[in-house]
Amino acid sequence: MIRPSYIASIELSPRKWPVNVEDLKADLSDEFSLVSSNLDISQRNSLDSKEHIQVCLRIRPFTASEKENESQDCVSIQDSTSIILKGPKNSMICQLSEKNVGQMVQKFTFSRVFGPETTQEEFFDGTVKQPVQDFLEGHNRLIFTYGVTNAGKTYTFQGTEADIGILPRTMDMLFKSIHGQLYPDMDFKPLRCKDYIRLTKEQVREEIAVKNSILRLMKEVDSQNSINNHSKTSESSEDLEELLKEPEQPNTSMASYMKFSVWVSFCEIYNECIYDLLLPVSNDKKRRVLRLAQDTKGCSYVKDLQWIQVSDSKEAFKLLKLGLKHQSIACTKLNTYSSRSHSIFTVKMLKIEDSEAPNVTRVSELALCDLAGSERCTKTRNEGDRLKESGNINTSLLILGKCINALKNSQRSKLQLHIPFRESKLTHFLQGFFSGKGKVYMIVNISQCAYDETLNVLKFSAIAQKICVLDASNAPQDHPFVQKSAREVSLINNVDTKIQVARKRATVLWDRSLEDVIEDDDDLTVDNNETHEEHDMAKEMPNEEEENKVIIGKEDYLRLLTIIEDLKSKLINERKDKLLLELKIREEAAQVLTQCFAQQETDFRQCLSYERELLEEASEQRLEIYKDLVNECAKNLDEEQEIKDSHCNERAGMLDNTVTTIKRQMPKENSDGTIEGTQSSESVKHGLDVGRKHCFESKPTQEEEPPTKKDTISTTAEQGAFRKNLNPMSEQKQKFAIRKLYHLRRRKSAKLNAK
Ligand code: ADP
Ligand code: MG
Repeated sequence: MIRPSYIASIELSPRKWPVNVEDLKADLSDEFSLVSSNLDISQRNSLDSKEHIQVCLRIRPFTASEKENESQDCVSIQDSTSIILKGPKNSMICQLSEKNVGQMVQKFTFSRVFGPETTQEEFFDGTVKQPVQDFLEGHNRLIFTYGVTNAGKTYTFQGTEADIGILPRTMDMLFKSIHGQLYPDMDFKPLRCKDYIRLTKEQVREEIAVKNSILRLMKEVDSQNSINNHSKTSESSEDLEELLKEPEQPNTSMASYMKFSVWVSFCEIYNECIYDLLLPVSNDKKRRVLRLAQDTKGCSYVKDLQWIQVSDSKEAFKLLKLGLKHQSIACTKLNTYSSRSHSIFTVKMLKIEDSEAPNVTRVSELALCDLAGSERCTKTRNEGDRLKESGNINTSLLILGKCINALKNSQRSKLQLHIPFRESKLTHFLQGFFSGKGKVYMIVNISQCAYDETLNVLKFSAIAQKICVLDASNAPQDHPFVQKSAREVSLINNVDTKIQVARKRATVLWDRSLEDVIEDDDDLTVDNNETHEEHDMAKEMPNEEEENKVIIGKEDYLRLLTIIEDLKSKLINERKDKLLLELKIREEAAQVLTQCFAQQETDFRQCLSYERELLEEASEQRLEIYKDLVNECAKNLDEEQEIKDSHCNERAGMLDNTVTTIKRQMPKENSDGTIEGTQSSESVKHGLDVGRKHCFESKPTQEEEPPTKKDTISTTAEQGAFRKNLNPMSEQKQKFAIRKLYHLRRRKSAKLNAK
């Protein structure tokens, strides 16, 4: 089984001396502390820097069911900034690593750690108060919750009736801070990412109508809620009254002529689609999917998102409640009110110089995101739609992790690596903040029992802490002059942005793709569904192409044009040269190849003729050998014949002698009787015939045999044996010939190679 890399990384080196268990435990924690303390120093140093992502940890208290189940406590707080995570024996990771490292103990450090007993107020004061203050001073801030399902993200974000969360508290603090400095009119409205638009009277009337209709909708929701008594997570109007009872302390540091206009929007990213949570939804109609766009400054914004001006925290709460009513919430096994989407509540504040001709001097943004929790399908036992939601939630969180990792690596290596912001809607939306728009605050929520999941969350947050995010909104310089038109605003903002983008480029690669161009182009096309406001906007606002032309400047533009022309002609010349060179190379290559082939052909021819010669030579030799053999054979046969003939003659002579002797005796015998004489002459004749026959047919006796000569053939059988002896000889000769041929060939080929 493959062991996770982090297990391998904490394995102890083999010891040479015996150790007891206690020792081992102590050493383990030492080593972890060592690793962590190194980390601590770097982390603490980094956290001191305002440009690092601030990560705060909140530990959820045990729920009633967890207490009942006697769930093991795996988290212990060490101090206000660090915790120790101990893996229970039954955890998956510990089971995997038990043999080698025993109980897993790891230390994690954060900007601040909030224990289970922390109240909502304490948590708000310790984490969110500062970014809200920054926002009031004109900075952009992002606050997002991160953790597994049921870890307390939504509780932290929204809170309950009894104890409201960071979002209502933020709105409360905001309005308390700007009390008495609220800009009463609605004629300035935020636009796109950092811009704003001055509305006409007609547009203002429309804006008011929209707001009233939404608030009316809210009343209906309220009345429904009171009938159903169903609202669980949001605050009632009475709570709001309670909050507003407190004496408001307007920020005296702000000049009295400076006014603030507050606008909010509320959207969710559900199954990789963005929906406006403030838009009324009818049951039969599908919700309108919004798109992410990017302005010329590279900032992402949700196109066509509803922005509502709010005059007090009461209105803001109402909008929050309305949005929550529309949010995709479902009951999962882990959480009965599980948010199935990432919800983003954004507040934009326009700082307005309220003079005879009011003008906006700054637009700041505070985004509060309650991310849906990462979850294991086996734990949630989700099926169908829930499973699809989980997949999308996990994917977007995974991409967030990838982006965080890539950012870390990019900053570590000082190289501009690709950050995959575009791989999910969530990261695409957050891209601006990770690329210098403003500071990022991360709230990590954990429970005390889900060890494996908690470990992953903590590891993720440890990486996130190392990321350094540039805050381009750090040096707020309100525009000191009156801005009469949106066009001027855009121009100034563009100059600002040019500087910002240049700064951003030093650290983080801007991820611009065709998608932006397409989306932005769409902005410029006339859409029948677009509101009247947008048509008016088009009149007031220059399109992006125009902006670019003005920004570059004529001289620069002309200079660039000449450079482009120059480069073009250079490119054409280069291409020509390249083509000619290619042609030349091709020709040369063809020539060389032809030569090669010709050479090869002559070589082969020579080789062939040489081989032929050798073969002829060998066959002639063979022929000679055969001729010799045949001659010798014939000679032997003649000799044999001669010997035979001499034998026959000898025998014939002997027989003749016998016959004459017999003939001499015959007259004596004839006197004894005629019959005997006849019989005996016949028998003699017969004896003679037999004798002759025997003489010619019988083999020569041992003494009569001629002396055997080597390589001579005496009989048919001997001839066969000789042939047998002859064959090995010819084979030898053949082998010799082949060897000779081989050597000759080799010599020939060596000669050819040398050539
Ligand atoms: P998540 O949004 O992470 O899925 P929730 O915020 O819905 O989880 O919390 C799950 C449950 O735990 C809720 O019933 C919530 O009231 C409770 N809870 C979470 N955090 C706390 C806390 N700090 N104090 C008391 N109860 C909490
Ligand atoms: Mg939730």
